[in-house]
Amino acid sequence: MNSPKLILLLFLIIQSLGMCTSVQVFHQETGEKDNLKILDGVAETFISTYDLARVLSSKLYVNNDRQKIVLYLREHRIKLSSETSFIIINEQIYQMSHVSIGVEEDIYLPAESFFSILQMAVLPRIIYNPIKQLLDINIVDFNITGLNIEEKANGTILRIKTRERFSNGNISAFKHNNGWFYLTIKGGIIDSAEVKRTDTRGVVRKVVADQFDESVQLAFQLRSNIEGFEFYQSTKPDEIVVTLRAPLSKSAARIKEVKNRWRLNTIVLDAGHGGKDGGTVGKYGVKEKNITLDITKRIGRLVEKNTHIKVVHTREEDIFIPLWKRTKIANENNGKLFISIHANASPNRNVRGFETYLLSPGKTSDAIEVASRENAVIQLEDQQQKKYSGENLIMATMVQSTHMKDSEEFAGIIQNELASGINSKNRGVKQAGFYVLIGASMPNVLIEVGFLSNPTEEKKLKKASYRQQIAEAVYSAIFKFRNTKEKLLAKG
Ligand SMILES: [Zn+2]
Repeated sequence: MNSPKLILLLFLIIQSLGMCTSVQVFHQETGEKDNLKILDGVAETFISTYDLARVLSSKLYVNNDRQKIVLYLREHRIKLSSETSFIIINEQIYQMSHVSIGVEEDIYLPAESFFSILQMAVLPRIIYNPIKQLLDINIVDFNITGLNIEEKANGTILRIKTRERFSNGNISAFKHNNGWFYLTIKGGIIDSAEVKRTDTRGVVRKVVADQFDESVQLAFQLRSNIEGFEFYQSTKPDEIVVTLRAPLSKSAARIKEVKNRWRLNTIVLDAGHGGKDGGTVGKYGVKEKNITLDITKRIGRLVEKNTHIKVVHTREEDIFIPLWKRTKIANENNGKLFISIHANASPNRNVRGFETYLLSPGKTSDAIEVASRENAVIQLEDQQQKKYSGENLIMATMVQSTHMKDSEEFAGIIQNELASGINSKNRGVKQAGFYVLIGASMPNVLIEVGFLSNPTEEKKLKKASYRQQIAEAVYSAIFKFRNTKEKLLAKG
């Protein structure tokens, strides 16, 4: 017997029993009552998609030829077809308990399983009572919409995507000694279907989301012990960020492993500024962005000519590259050394010399001034990507400290080489909070090759031969640094 005949038969049997012909609907917010049309004469309750769209005030798109209906509920897209148990919500496939039934243009869906899918994927507060055939509608959207887990050298970051900001008072967390980490968010309504799709990595083995009346609890099963954790609500994007710190001994082992892998096979050269960001400009019109590009190209040529080290330039033309992207390029290319070249400026025209910087919170007022000038470009960055706050800063500093000793050593060699290679003043190694160095997963330095604000130094920097001398000194520093490090590794 084919299904239309079967339905007809059931229709005749059940109609005579006088079943109710609609699902009663109650709108929580307005208190309004309504009825949702169901298919007469079948044992299961099948609801009308057309009527559901009316009840939920959602838009419909109907393709009659192919017996398909797309239901638009806010940003969610629900694709329905007749004669199938599958439905597609936001490109995810769900299966209902029964095959849908096409009646003329309409598609009837098995109520109980359809509503449970709808509740899981789209409307967390819709409640259907199959026995009483009662549908309780409370159109509340999820405010916790997903989870991302990132593994870092010294820990794991959990990013819980939120649609609103939760105050820290509404977030609580604790690590249970049963090996689970719990995060409770008061007022949270979680898209648990989305959370289920999270790729677990790092210290997280498994994630379970539990929706309670007034809160959400996320439980993370940990693969190994954690040293501690921090959390906070971040904005732009709105997310709750949790950092799970690996125990020190473990991260020490990891750092050692990273260090043992160190071979200087790729170097990243970063020409400061570029494009709309000109950097500082001297009295005779020499622009920092041009000086830095020329010097990095010269260094690159020397490295390529004399070694097998691969050279990656963050820019090779006069173009604008945001600071965050420069370290991204360096990390993506698996760079082993990051050198950012800049030229300095001072209100005092007598000040001259070269200096090499390491990333660290500003120590001296001098350093702060240089850093704030070099960081000023952040204002020019189109998307205003605030990559350097909160957990990025925690993690970046953690990574940074891994390479601090090497960066410091490299900076020292650079200063020595410059001192013997060019006729200028050695201003030493300094520390400041340069954004361009934040997040570089490799030893990194920023060299201020000279002061464009000093007319004599500007004239020198204008000469190709002087820039070549600088490039040769930096190249020689790279060479020496590599030799010391690789020799050390061979010994170890
Ligand atoms: Zn600069």
